[in-house]
Amino acid sequence: MAEIIVVGAGAIGNASAYYLAKSGAKVTVLEKDSCIGNGGSSRNGGGVRQSGRNPAELPPVMYGVRNIWPGLSDELGMDIEYCQEGNLRLGKTEEHLKILRELVRDAEAGGLAMRMVDRAEAREICPFLSDEVAGASWCPTDGHANPLLVTLAFYRAARRLGVDFVTGAEVVSLRKKRSRVVAVVTACGSVYEGDGVLVAAGYGAGKLLRTAGIDVPMAPVLMEMLVTEESPPMFFQMLGAAMSDFYGHQTKHGSFIFGGTHGFEPYTDSSRLTGTSIAASNTCRGVIGYFPVLKDLKILRTWAGVLDDCFDHIPVIDNPVEAPGLTVGCGFSGHGFGLAPVAGLLLSQLALGGSPALPLDRFKYDRFRAKARSGNT
Ligand SMILES: Cc1cc2nc3c(=O)[nH]c(=O)nc-3n(C[C@H](O)[C@H](O)[C@H](O)COP(=O)(O)OP(=O)(O)OC[C@H]3O[C@@H](n4cnc5c(N)ncnc54)[C@H](O)[C@@H]3O)c2cc1C
Repeated sequence: MAEIIVVGAGAIGNASAYYLAKSGAKVTVLEKDSCIGNGGSSRNGGGVRQSGRNPAELPPVMYGVRNIWPGLSDELGMDIEYCQEGNLRLGKTEEHLKILRELVRDAEAGGLAMRMVDRAEAREICPFLSDEVAGASWCPTDGHANPLLVTLAFYRAARRLGVDFVTGAEVVSLRKKRSRVVAVVTACGSVYEGDGVLVAAGYGAGKLLRTAGIDVPMAPVLMEMLVTEESPPMFFQMLGAAMSDFYGHQTKHGSFIFGGTHGFEPYTDSSRLTGTSIAASNTCRGVIGYFPVLKDLKILRTWAGVLDDCFDHIPVIDNPVEAPGLTVGCGFSGHGFGLAPVAGLLLSQLALGGSPALPLDRFKYDRFRAKARSGNT
């Protein structure tokens, strides 16, 4: 029986552990925090979105939406609140509609069924829109799920299959034996050894991978969310805007969860998880601009989380040739929740030396080989 050490108990580490154990492997998951899922995995917007993705991510995310997400609650034995009511990305101006048309064109080229809808059809799909909405892109197979429940459900299902989780275990180095990465060392000096190591540690993966000579170019980016008081059921599509000033959805119990981008994210302090004074008001302006009907809803709470933003905004899902025995899943760059189940499946297949269910050429580590830059000395 193969024995794999997984580093990181976020959605991707937990999903990997689950699929590894389902394939018969013995698995130990090491998590630096005192609880599981305290990274981006429990702090995100819950979007299970295929639309608006980098074309490289379309095959895996479409595979997940077709083959995994719809049956995930049953498979994991817990309601993860998956809701497949589509994604409307809204625009008000000709400039916005141009951005949306380009997204639709890229998605169609990748085989995703998505189209533009005019103002009237957008309002038929979601009657609460502002009169200012001029049109939208529409992907009927997109959706959302509850990130806390997904992360917890994979953890519980993995535990039922015998996976060991060790919390408070920060892995500080990867260790090789006969040139293979087969062991890890924790901050308190414990050594865990197996047949291979799978690193799914979000932004924390960068520092750890460097101990085995692997350099994934990633930056930490602080992103913020808010949740409102409960409201009667209004609409259950995933919503967004051409300029990404807001995105979100109404949850099963009635609260709205919204996030957005304000443009200053790369310049904020990602070491504090307390958020900024900029984000919530910016998101509210975005939401109210498209949904004036929500203007009196009270905000209950705001929070922040850190993205592992990769240089080219797509993840590494690979066994780097430089480090046999090592499997890497990091750099999900703000899209990792929707990808988590399929990424866990693919990473488990890589870690066990099998053929992955999908080609992974676009996610290989060797795409970062330094390029010569003319003019630089
Ligand atoms: C505010 C916000 C909104 C987002 N919205 C969406 C969305 O709507 N849709 C979407 O698809 N994605 C979204 N994302 C991105 C998504 O949350 C992440 O891509 C995904 O959760 C990454 O999962 P992960 O398991 O790789 O990382 P994480 O959840 O960060 O888990 C990594 C784990 O590894 C642990 N760890 C780190 N270093 C070590 C170490 N040395 N030793 C042991 N353990 C370690 C950490 O403590 C953590 O628990 C959002 C992210 C944020 C922050």
